[in-house]
Amino acid sequence: MHRDVEILVVGLGAMGSAALYHLARQGAAPVGIDQYAIGHAQGSSHGHSRAFRVFYNDPVYITLVKAALPLWQELETLSGEQLLIPNGMLAFAKPENERLDQNIRIMQDTKTSHEVLTAEEVAARFPALRLPGNTVACYTPDSGFLNPSRCVRTHVSQAERFGATVHSGATVHHIDLSKEHPEVETSTGSYCCRRLIVAPGPWASQLLKDLSLPLQVTRQQKFYFQPQEVTALYQPDRLPVYADYDRAYYGFPYYGPGIKVADDGHGPVTSPETVDRTLDLDVQNALAQWIKTIMPEVNPSFIEGATCMYTLTPDHDFLIGDHPLNPNILVGVGFSGHGFKFSTIVGKILAELATDGKTDYPIDKFRLNRFG
Ligand SMILES: Cc1cc2nc3c(=O)[nH]c(=O)nc-3n(C[C@H](O)[C@H](O)[C@H](O)COP(=O)(O)OP(=O)(O)OC[C@H]3O[C@@H](n4cnc5c(N)ncnc54)[C@H](O)[C@@H]3O)c2cc1C
Repeated sequence: MHRDVEILVVGLGAMGSAALYHLARQGAAPVGIDQYAIGHAQGSSHGHSRAFRVFYNDPVYITLVKAALPLWQELETLSGEQLLIPNGMLAFAKPENERLDQNIRIMQDTKTSHEVLTAEEVAARFPALRLPGNTVACYTPDSGFLNPSRCVRTHVSQAERFGATVHSGATVHHIDLSKEHPEVETSTGSYCCRRLIVAPGPWASQLLKDLSLPLQVTRQQKFYFQPQEVTALYQPDRLPVYADYDRAYYGFPYYGPGIKVADDGHGPVTSPETVDRTLDLDVQNALAQWIKTIMPEVNPSFIEGATCMYTLTPDHDFLIGDHPLNPNILVGVGFSGHGFKFSTIVGKILAELATDGKTDYPIDKFRLNRFG
């Protein structure tokens, strides 16, 4: 079957589902396709929690995360779903951690709400956490966490409500860039479109091979633990998102199956076709040990874990903009393990680029040709 469409979105994970929603909100009646069912667990956007962190060292990301907040709230109002749990975030490290200190300075420069706390103040405010005496901690009250599977499903269902058409189970095999209006061949037929948005997450190197993007896919794992006693102290209203800047470990309060913790350090290089989804016991044990050191009363037992993929660029900044070989194709890839919080604003930016050819949001640093 062949279809002519105005705007086609390929990939309905975090970024594509958001683009579809914003296009539909503008009345553009987009069509979205994905190889899997909406909300699947094969890519980068499944599970119960993704940090919504305003604690960045770059004003561009702070501008974008602040712009994302009202969009998430608007989506919550429209759908009646809770997507964002606004419980703040606590980043901490030993004294003189360069990254932590730099982020604190940028919080001051950008007038982003934050409080620098001692270990004692942390224990008084968040009694589950017992950090070493010399810890430097910074609490950002405007942070929190998003429920990623629910966000993706909600973007898609609200997009449909505003006139989008969704085809799941359609795998794109080839994009013909040579025509002014790109042609897309899929397992269920072909499409000719005036504008095409491509947001294939970890599959980007395959689908955009003409661009030879310097992307690296890594295998990441997250683990859920059950405290021996589930008390009020582990709930989101008493425990923020917490991140150890000396070790790159981070965690969440009790939400979904338990307390989720993960290592933000990059796992082994892989690909969506070959990724090993068996859980790594060494990482699991290291994380269990870490929780015991910062929450001595938790006595955690392992419940479950899952594998996910980061798609890294060399500078860990995103790739967003026109396809250098065809300006009717817009690309959003390389979200480098920290893209979820921005997904609704990235979707809006991609929608604006597709319909207006420009955006006022600061995306210059994300241009596709910056690696030569
Ligand atoms: C363990 C882990 C923890 C993370 N923690 C955080 C966090 O705390 N905060 C944060 O902000 N970010 C976090 N991230 C990063 C964030 O989740 C990702 O940046 C984001 O989800 C990437 O979304 P995406 O749309 O690019 O990719 P995906 O969500 O994977 O979407 C890509 C979609 O394209 C589809 N697709 C691909 N190829 C084709 C094809 N040929 N035909 C049809 N469809 C196709 C796929 O099926 C998929 O649905 C984390 C990531 C992981 C893995």
